[in-house]
Amino acid sequence: MDETEGLSLQLNEPKPGAKTKDKCEKINMMCIYDFDQTISSAHVFHKTQGASVEQIRDQYKKKDFEDWFETSRLTYLKEHFETLRSLGVELRIISFGLVDVIHYALKMVGLDNYFEKDLIFGQDSPELQNVQGQKHRLIKQFMESLSLEKTQVVFVDDDPRNIEATNKDDVCLTVYIDQRKGMQKSHIDQLNGYFNTLAQLFDFNDDGLLQHDEFIAICTSLEVSDELREKLEASYFPLRKQVKVVAE
Ligand SMILES: [Mg+2]
Repeated sequence: MDETEGLSLQLNEPKPGAKTKDKCEKINMMCIYDFDQTISSAHVFHKTQGASVEQIRDQYKKKDFEDWFETSRLTYLKEHFETLRSLGVELRIISFGLVDVIHYALKMVGLDNYFEKDLIFGQDSPELQNVQGQKHRLIKQFMESLSLEKTQVVFVDDDPRNIEATNKDDVCLTVYIDQRKGMQKSHIDQLNGYFNTLAQLFDFNDDGLLQHDEFIAICTSLEVSDELREKLEASYFPLRKQVKVVAE
């Protein structure tokens, strides 16, 4: 199943002590997750039989949610979301579950801080309904509205159909959760490594700590488009360019 192959990239190891920053004004990077069996390990929507959040509150206890996420996974999930957030990656969820239920489930296991409620899209969200539940089309809309290109967005899902549709349309990078029991450490290491490397490009733009040859090497390894590379270079070298123009 070629279309479901994950990030087909050679990822650099995160630099030790890599610089982190607060959530930046402009969204440069985005990670979009499915919820059931991607963030959670069990299928919460099936377990709760599509019940509303009001029914769920009465019926299930914190322990049920911890079991559905697996307590052992919670530490590295938290670390992962924390890492991406500190790099300035915006986190979103697109799921066929219900927004309130997803938010409540995240809250029960202490992961609700990482996802703004209005950045969770479920079967009851008009945005997902408007694209007939086709996740890749909603992702494309996000990207268009924020002027993000393929290399700046990663979509993570355990459903091969969603991954295949996204890859077929060449929308963004994808990570396929092949065992359908939630993201494992290996998926998370891959995601952290990718965004850590990508973030260096935007750091280059911000403060120029990265040397130009290192910058070019990262652009090549991440296969960023010439357009994005030129955009980053242009904002880094405006003065030099001006001097050049005058000299000519
Ligand atoms: Mg799923």
